[in-house]
Amino acid sequence: MSEEPRPNETKPWSASVFTLFPDMFPGPLGLSLAGEGLRADRWSLDVHDIRLHGLGRHRAVDDTPAGGGAGMVMRADVLGACIDANLPPGDARPRLLMSPRGKPLTQSRARALAQGEGLVLICGRFEGYDERVIEGRGLEEISIGDYVLSGGELAAMVVLDACVRLLPGIMGKAVSGEEESFENNRLEYPHYTRPREWEGRIIPDVLLSGDHARIRAWREAEAERITRERRPDLLVKE
Ligand code: SAH
Repeated sequence: MSEEPRPNETKPWSASVFTLFPDMFPGPLGLSLAGEGLRADRWSLDVHDIRLHGLGRHRAVDDTPAGGGAGMVMRADVLGACIDANLPPGDARPRLLMSPRGKPLTQSRARALAQGEGLVLICGRFEGYDERVIEGRGLEEISIGDYVLSGGELAAMVVLDACVRLLPGIMGKAVSGEEESFENNRLEYPHYTRPREWEGRIIPDVLLSGDHARIRAWREAEAERITRERRPDLLVKE
């Protein structure tokens, strides 16, 4: 008899989130494909309230910036204690700290993260974090784009959504993940569906020709054209 473990016996891809607003989770990730996957144990989510490790009667998690200036800074001791209390020693998952200073998330990074064991995501608030916790707990700063949000929770959800949809069994057809925007440094070609004519606009003939080689060539050319027009930087990456 075969001793090979069956796929459904392996541990699912797991995400651990650290936040001051645990009630925000799973939020949108509890609905649609990600939510169905969560209920089917295709991935797991545990959420940790940083406030539980806050100091004193008011469970303070932040303090004024050394050197002065506006805003408050999340304390390294509080965040460090919360991480230590909730991550088992030897937890090898990447520890991502949501931060506009971080390396921008890309589709290829999401794909690499989805192929791992899971993720630890830490959500900031206020001005940011005490710099020492980044090195002290081996955190990697990651950004979801060049704009500033009020907190890391939405950013963490973006990172999670981008990864979770790539996990086995989440999307109906695996191929739809391989042909879409940013795969092969191209934006996606245009889509059409019934009706054939809508408000005088018609579906390009080639798509109704049944000639799969021509259809593929048309889609490749359109993807190339759209990428050249909108995101020439992607073509340079090749
Ligand atoms: N003072 C900081 C911004 C703090 S915004 C700076 O200038 O860089 C508060 C928190 O929101 C951050 O700690 C981070 O967790 C989150 N955040 C804001 N914008 C983000 C982005 N583009 N990507 C990821 N996280 C972000």
